Amino acid sequence: MRVLITGGAGFVGSHLVDALLARGDQVTVLDDLSTGRHDNIRHHLGDPNFEFVMGSILNDAVVDDVVRRADVVMHLAAAVGVELIVGRPLESLATNIRGSEIVLEKCHKYGRKVLVTSTSEIYGKNDSDLLSEDDDRILGSPLKTRWSYSEAKAIEEVLAYSYWREKGLPAVIVRLFNTVGPRQVGHYGMVVPRFVEQALKGAPITVYGDGTQRRCFCHVADVVSALIGLVDSREAEGQVFNVGANEEISIAGLAERVIEQLDSDSSIVKVSYDDAYEEGFEDMPRRVPNTARVRGLLGWTPQRNLADIINDVAADITSRSS
Ligand code: UDP
Repeated sequence: MRVLITGGAGFVGSHLVDALLARGDQVTVLDDLSTGRHDNIRHHLGDPNFEFVMGSILNDAVVDDVVRRADVVMHLAAAVGVELIVGRPLESLATNIRGSEIVLEKCHKYGRKVLVTSTSEIYGKNDSDLLSEDDDRILGSPLKTRWSYSEAKAIEEVLAYSYWREKGLPAVIVRLFNTVGPRQVGHYGMVVPRFVEQALKGAPITVYGDGTQRRCFCHVADVVSALIGLVDSREAEGQVFNVGANEEISIAGLAERVIEQLDSDSSIVKVSYDDAYEEGFEDMPRRVPNTARVRGLLGWTPQRNLADIINDVAADITSRSS
């Protein structure tokens, strides 16, 4: 089977590439290396089962060619990371809306099954106990750029779902909650690699806001096994699935855990949201997924905990800087 992975040089995408090649699939990666990195896939160059196409999902002709040659498409290419979305909203909107539309159009044209990766940002400020797939979205003004990511990914979901409902395209939607692990970089805002890097350097750990906001961090290896299980499942078609961890921690608590586990001398500094992002930035106080649906279908639960995550991220950062 040839699998096309858009965004395959990115953090999650490149781990998916590793896993699919390891099970004997052929893999084509389409990536424009905007946030993806060549280093993430370099180890596969020369493998006859692996092909790298440098290009954007906004390039109609390129997408047409790579989708035509694939059996299945896993669409991960997106402008991601709060800092990027807030800093370059127009470019982010074009990639996430128009780019996804092109990918889906081509999947429909050639009848290719597609898995679309969405995000927990879909739920916006809904901080109810466990977020289930059918829960409401609570968003701020669209003029606050933070929410434009949620809007764009929602449109992508509606497009995928409508292609399934109206045109019979086999499509699966996955909402990824905070996903972390080796190869993730901190400069797009992602908190775990930032804290680990700061701790390893003995630099101050930058906690945004008061640090009481809570998240659940899932190891990328667990996320990849859910993505593969879902793309392989006929039953998953036409459905949306939350994928994430259930171990909840406050961001201040995370800072302390990282310092303790890495035996670091770092101090903790509080940074206001206005200084960290933009004036009037709204953060999500809490985000915990209900993953009963994916567990029910695949029996999937995360196998790695936060200690494993901190270890693996630290080992990755250390090996890259040596
Ligand atoms: N965060 C932080 N310090 C940092 C980077 C992020 O306190 O240096 C906070 C951020 O404000 C958010 C949480 O950590 O409350 C998770 O941020 P991330 O960008 O990893 O993911 P999000 O859940 O916001 O998509």
